Amino acid sequence: MFRKTKIICTIGPASSSKKIIRKMYEAGMNGARINTAYGSPDYHELIMNKVRETANIPIIVDIKGPEIRLQVAEKQKVKKGDILKVGFIHSKLSFNHDFYDNIRVNDMIYIDNGRLRTVVVKKANREVHLSAMNHGEIENGKGVNIPSRQLSVPTLSKRDLEIIKFAEKIDAEYIALSFTRNAEDVTNLRASAHGYKGAVIAKIENTEGVNNFDAIMDAAEYIMIARGDLGVEIEPAKVPLVQKSLTKKCNQKGLPVAIATEMLESMIQQPSPTRAEVSDVANAILDGADAIMLSGETSIGKHPVRSVSMIAQIAEETEPATKSHIEDSTFVNISDAISKSIQRLCQTMPIDKVVTLTRSGYTAKMISRFKIAPLIIAVTPNEMVKSQLELVFGVCPTQMNYLIEDDRILSVAKKLSSDKLISSKDTILFTAAFRTSRRHSSNLIEIHDIAELLHLAS
Ligand code: PGA
Ligand code: MN
Repeated sequence: MFRKTKIICTIGPASSSKKIIRKMYEAGMNGARINTAYGSPDYHELIMNKVRETANIPIIVDIKGPEIRLQVAEKQKVKKGDILKVGFIHSKLSFNHDFYDNIRVNDMIYIDNGRLRTVVVKKANREVHLSAMNHGEIENGKGVNIPSRQLSVPTLSKRDLEIIKFAEKIDAEYIALSFTRNAEDVTNLRASAHGYKGAVIAKIENTEGVNNFDAIMDAAEYIMIARGDLGVEIEPAKVPLVQKSLTKKCNQKGLPVAIATEMLESMIQQPSPTRAEVSDVANAILDGADAIMLSGETSIGKHPVRSVSMIAQIAEETEPATKSHIEDSTFVNISDAISKSIQRLCQTMPIDKVVTLTRSGYTAKMISRFKIAPLIIAVTPNEMVKSQLELVFGVCPTQMNYLIEDDRILSVAKKLSSDKLISSKDTILFTAAFRTSRRHSSNLIEIHDIAELLHLAS
C-alpha cells in the first residue's frame, strides 16, 4: 500500500549515521530536515551529504531567521530566583539578536519552548537581568520567546546568509524560514538567495505569522505549523483550532502544509507513544496535513526508526477516513476547475490512479488537496519539482521529459507501465496541459484502460 501522508525527519546526533538514515528511509521517511540552530556548517554539510548518498528524498534546510536564541558557552542549571545577566550578540551569555531597546522591565521571557520562565527585573549596561521563575536549564541554541513584544529583528542574520549559501551548494529542495512574520520576510529571503533554486517553507510560530497568514500563503510554497514555539507565543489551548483553520486554508489553495513538533514526544525516551500522541497525529492527518514532522524524536531520541514507523502505521490506519475540506469557490484558473472535475470523476467511477503531467507541480497539488482515494502520479520534466512533490499528500512524483514526445499521454503510459507504477489492469485518469504554454492550465482529461491503450498503440 502506498502511504499518502509524508514524513519529515529532523536529522541530528541520534540519526546522523548512514545506517540510521537508511533505516529511517526504509521505515518511511520522505524528507530530511537539518535544524541549523544546532551544529556547525561543517556538521550540517556532513550529514546532508550522507542523506544525499543514502536516500533520494528532499532536503529541508531550516534557518532561524527572526527566531531569538540563547548563546551560552556551556549547559548550566538554573534555580528558581536565580538572576541571569544576558547580553546581546557578543557576550558569554547572550541573545542572538539585539533587542535591548525594545525590551522593558516586567516583560516575560520564555526559554526552551517555555520550560524555563523568566521575568526582566532590570536593564543596565546593555544587559538584561532575568529572574528565573522555576528551576530549569540553559543550553546553547535554545529558543527564546517574548510573546508580549513584536521585535523588529531582521529577517536574516549573517549566519543565516551563510547557511543559505550552503543550501544553494547542496541544491536543497526547501529552505524553512523560522518565525515567518509576514510576506516580506519571505520576499527578503528570496532577495538574499539569488542562486537558490528551491522552494520556501514559511514556519508559522507566532501571532504575527498567524495574523498575516493570508499574505504569507501567497508568498511561500509550503507552510509549516510549528507548534513548539506557537504554543509559547499564543496560549497552548489556542493551538488546536489555529492548526485546523490554517490547515484548511492551505488545503483550499492547494498549498501543502506540514504539522510539526511533539508529534510523538514521549518516544524520545520510550519505545512506544502515548495514546494521546497517536490521536494527535491521526487528527493532524484528518485536519488535512500533507506531512507530519518529527523533531526531537528522530534528532536526539532513543528510537528514531521506530518513531518513523509509528507515524507510517498511524497514517495507514487513518488515511481511508481523510476527506476534502475544500469549500466551493469561484473560478480561480483552469487547473483549479479541472481538479474539481477530477474529484467528481473519482467519486463517480472506478479510477485506479490519477496521472498528472505537470511542469511546475501546481496541478498535482490542486488535485492532492481533495484527498481523493486514488494515488496521484505526478510526471514532471523538472528534477527539482519532482523532489519537492515528494512532500505532497497522496502524490507519487516521477521525472520524465514528456515535452519532447509527440504523443505525451501514450509515452507517459508506456514509461509508467515499464516502471511498474501502473499496471495493465488499471483504469487511469490522465490530465495535462495541451496546446497551451500558460501556467496553471491543465486543460485535458483522458480516461483509459491501460491494457487497451497500450494495445492500440502497438
Ligand atoms: P523548531 O521549529 O523545531 O525549529 O523550533 C518547530 C516549532 O517551533 O514547533
Ligand atoms: Mn520553532
